[in-house]
Amino acid sequence: MTLFSNPLVVDLLAKYRPIAAMTHTSALFQWDLETNMPEAGANARAQAQAEIELLRQKMTLDLTGLIEKAEKQKTLNDAEKGVIRVIKRELDFYQKIPADLLEQLQKATVEASVPWREARKKADFRIFQPHLEKITDLKRKQAERLNPSTHPYNALLDLFEEGLTITDLDQIFSVLIPQLKKILAKTLGQGKFPEKHPLEEADYDVEALKQVNEKLTSLLDMPGKRFRQDVSTHPFSIRIAGDDVRITTRYQPKNFKASMFGLIHECGHALYELQVDRELDFTPSGTGVSSGVHESQSRFWENIVGRSRQFTSMTYPLLKTKLSSLSLYDENQVYSYFNTVRPSLIRVEADELTYNFHIAMRYELEKKMLQGTVQVSELPSVWNDMIEEYLGKRPPDDAQGVLQDVHWSWGQYANFPGYSLGNVIAGMLWNTLTRKQLLPIKGDKSIPALKGWLAENIHKPGATYPPKELLNRVFGHGYDPSGLVSYLENKYLAPN
Ligand code: MG
Repeated sequence: MTLFSNPLVVDLLAKYRPIAAMTHTSALFQWDLETNMPEAGANARAQAQAEIELLRQKMTLDLTGLIEKAEKQKTLNDAEKGVIRVIKRELDFYQKIPADLLEQLQKATVEASVPWREARKKADFRIFQPHLEKITDLKRKQAERLNPSTHPYNALLDLFEEGLTITDLDQIFSVLIPQLKKILAKTLGQGKFPEKHPLEEADYDVEALKQVNEKLTSLLDMPGKRFRQDVSTHPFSIRIAGDDVRITTRYQPKNFKASMFGLIHECGHALYELQVDRELDFTPSGTGVSSGVHESQSRFWENIVGRSRQFTSMTYPLLKTKLSSLSLYDENQVYSYFNTVRPSLIRVEADELTYNFHIAMRYELEKKMLQGTVQVSELPSVWNDMIEEYLGKRPPDDAQGVLQDVHWSWGQYANFPGYSLGNVIAGMLWNTLTRKQLLPIKGDKSIPALKGWLAENIHKPGATYPPKELLNRVFGHGYDPSGLVSYLENKYLAPN
């Protein structure tokens, strides 16, 4: 049965296909940029990407009349309402953001890429400062265009997490952060989960770990013909098409768990895209609905499944065969290594208990930057003060502070909360799936059962329902941090 029958919607979708083809092209460009492109190709790629974006704007604006007509149709099914809602959001964006602002933003972010890398390498914020000033100024203008009657953060947040506002986020963090502080203090006091483990300093054989990662993708039953993995500096996952989803991993010299859990994380993102209803291919709803929901899928597989006691039991024999450094450590010790807990300065290396402090801090700081109460020039010192307040540690230099993340150089303001929302929704999943006895996993057969449940409940509709509505349908309520708190208490504080 086909999802779409309303003639106006069918017509609109036919006219949308060239736009979907441009999404396909841009995604392939992006993947190539991160994996294969020679460095000097960057300028031409940036120009080409900007041209595509402008073309996309023009093609979307050309559909204005049809979109407005389709929107007025009375008897639409959920899938039809979904595609119209998503196209309408794209149209709204392109109507409000003039072409020259789109182009300036695109150029400013491309121009910032090399200075950010250099600044980070030399731990010298001044190299990046003028670029970030320009980007911040353009983002304020963008927010003003999108919604002049609200906090600039709300306007930008909506681009990543539809319908979410700072009122929601303030509420979530005000519950989550004090609870996390308590769990962290108790966990550190008990000492059951070590702060450090010698395996973090151990070298490993990259070829052997590649074989492990290969096996892990088969354990997760990733469909070989529709999925591929490559190596890149920063791991990511990208949808090219419903039958072509790609991830990357990285292999640093030590600490093999970073590569292994990075791989599982990206597989979680990829599974979401691979399990979207194929009838939504080439429609605007044929992809994950928001940053938060997407990240919930990666964090679910990485942390709730991947770092569990049961998954460690499943993978330990394989790891022991392949990685010689493991000969000294039994299964319990490897589980401890997977779950070390300590406040640290680098977000991407943070454990489950301290990760959200990094996000809460960036969220507070970004609000001030967009409002103009913190100037870009003040950032390094404000960053250091704020992170010290959350983690009790002060960065020794800006590379370990304000320069660590790439997001601002990309012009991504208001995207960080998506990571915490991902953890929150993953906690909601833990709650529900534990009640349904799909968790904790019990061997290989649990994996397809979990994938099947996620496909039916989260993945299949793609972007058909806005995130709050999707959560309501699945859980009976919106973003609720209590599931995450229960999950963490259960894992870190339970006796035995
Ligand atoms: Mg992710």
